[in-house]
Amino acid sequence: MGNTTNILALGEWLDDRVEPLVISGPCSAESPEQLLATARLLAQNPYVKAFRAGVWKPRTRPGAFEGAGSKALSWLKDVRDETGLPIAVEVANPEHVAECLKHGIDILWVGARTVVNPFSMQAIAESLRGVDIPVMIKNPVNPDVKLWLGAIERVLNSGINKIAAIHRGFDIYQKTAFRNAPMWEIPIELKRCLPEIPIIVDPSHICGRRDLIADVSQKAYDLDMNGLMIECHYNPDVAMTDAEQQLTPDHLFAIVDNLIIRNQKGDQECQHRLESLRSEIDKIDRELVHLLSNRMKVTEEIGKYKKEKNITILQLKRWANIMNDRLELGSNMNLDQSFLQRLLNLIHKESISVQTEILKNKTR
Ligand code: PEP
Ligand code: MN
Repeated sequence: MGNTTNILALGEWLDDRVEPLVISGPCSAESPEQLLATARLLAQNPYVKAFRAGVWKPRTRPGAFEGAGSKALSWLKDVRDETGLPIAVEVANPEHVAECLKHGIDILWVGARTVVNPFSMQAIAESLRGVDIPVMIKNPVNPDVKLWLGAIERVLNSGINKIAAIHRGFDIYQKTAFRNAPMWEIPIELKRCLPEIPIIVDPSHICGRRDLIADVSQKAYDLDMNGLMIECHYNPDVAMTDAEQQLTPDHLFAIVDNLIIRNQKGDQECQHRLESLRSEIDKIDRELVHLLSNRMKVTEEIGKYKKEKNITILQLKRWANIMNDRLELGSNMNLDQSFLQRLLNLIHKESISVQTEILKNKTR
């Protein structure tokens, strides 16, 4: 486990006095004009604390625009000089790190396609040894919290103490409305393992389209995440990469103005009320566990009886009746049908495996 004792809070390297904290800028640096036109607008908003731009773009297939390369680093320096916004750039190897350091880039981030590779992460981490620069680490494209943790640990081990994770969603086989499924349980698990590491959410790469970005940004704050990275372009429709998901600065400002920032704790009265509601939940959960255990005991009884009488485990008609009956009951009690269906299926699966064990076991 990397050294987490001296991690600096986000406010030590990014202005976090007014929430939400937003890092914004185009997917790719395309030209000095495009960068300045976008940055001038973004810099007018108090929520925008840093300017992002990709200079080396990891593209799925060759032939697409692969970024303007090192020359864009001096364009970005001009952006910082004019707007005062710190500049964040994606790095994918030690050469990128060296180029960024040479050009005085303020913040580095490692992209999702690089985080999947421990060799690349280790090489980047080595190139950061002895350097004092903030580093943000995106989640790997696949939903593997250990890989994400490992990448963060490698950077921590190289002595970096200004560090953040970026949640940009996961490329999964099932198609969803999102470009990359958010799978919030993974950043939550990362927070549980490394509570000191701030998590910045990247709704642009999660959504892949503009109309979902407001909801995902709100969800990030509802889940106590620490900031947002959102792609903006002064004219998104002509963007050379990720055009469908980039916002105009005005659109971004409307979204952040409407965000509700929630308190983590609330006042004493609020805490008392929550405590009493939580103790009700604790009581109900215990009852649920008791009921489940009783149900399993009856399942076992049935299993033994089926074994004795040589009857099959699966009784489709009985199962269909159970499902219909419980779903109807649940719908009268305002329970979400798909939730109840998933829960019942899980219980049924467990019952089948308990009975299978009994039928297999010769001595039982
Ligand atoms: C990006 O931020 O433009 C980018 C390439 O993102 P990701 O690494 O999340 O795909
Ligand atoms: Mn992008």
